[in-house]
Amino acid sequence: MIQGSTELVAIVGSPIAQVKSPENFNTWFANNGRDLAMIAIDLRENALDAFLSTLRGWQNLRGCVVTVPYKQVLATRLDGVSNRAKALCSVNVIRREPDGRLLGDNVDGEGFLNAARRQGFQSAGKRALVIGCGGVGSAIAYALCEAGVNGLVLDDVSAERADGLVERLGSLFPAQRIERVYESLADFDLLVNASPVGMGDSGELPLPAAMLESLQPDTYVADVVTSPEITPLLEFARARGCTIQTGPQMALAQLGNLGAFMGATPLEIQP
Ligand code: NAD
Repeated sequence: MIQGSTELVAIVGSPIAQVKSPENFNTWFANNGRDLAMIAIDLRENALDAFLSTLRGWQNLRGCVVTVPYKQVLATRLDGVSNRAKALCSVNVIRREPDGRLLGDNVDGEGFLNAARRQGFQSAGKRALVIGCGGVGSAIAYALCEAGVNGLVLDDVSAERADGLVERLGSLFPAQRIERVYESLADFDLLVNASPVGMGDSGELPLPAAMLESLQPDTYVADVVTSPEITPLLEFARARGCTIQTGPQMALAQLGNLGAFMGATPLEIQP
């Protein structure tokens, strides 16, 4: 129950009704006897400045999870951001310091790696293909470089986006081999769909059928799309004998990171 003493965390975006974080966090707070609650805030873009100013003065609010469409715009308006959030120009979590300063981080990539680790997949030394170089794809690609993959290939329908990310990551991780071209999936240990392809009931695959034919059973295949849980790509990969990772697994795996950054949950929470 929310009482006068309850401290708050929030999730902010627009629209917001579809997000699952409030259920996950509030269940964990209740089950662990924490006097904390998460609220969902559907914010208009023209209210962002006023919102940030309110956050700085909001003494019983520890922080905010940030979702679409404010991850990029908020990254430029906080009082400090982590190196990775700066490199990605994107935040998905904000902490309010006791003096009111707002600090940001982006744990999308760490959530992805955590979910993979939970299934026994270690990225270090592996060769990876990431399809989709937008917000989430960039965060995953950055995390894979940090984790020490042995070769990363990036793909996107927008060549400009993919080339831009190759260039940015190349300057941040000069020792990493980052490429754009691939002829087959056969020599990838990891295949990630970080594009929205496969969302809803579109039935779409992010790669042509002929390319998918080269997928090997020992490739770890992950999708970021949360609905449906088993996307057409994951269905194909599972039928092929691959170990798969779903979008909800990635989302759940980063709850600990989000909560820990806001000082609201231990890092290792497993809802
Ligand atoms: P975004 O719009 O920033 O990026 C999407 C990218 O995919 C774009 O660069 C676009 O050009 C590219 N793309 C689109 N169609 C493509 C295709 N056919 N082939 C190759 N590239 C293609 O979006 P985002 O914020 O990165 O979100 C992407 C998806 O990730 C969404 O479905 C979102 O719901 C999901 N998401 C999942 C989690 C999670 O924890 N599982 C977290 C955040 C977002």
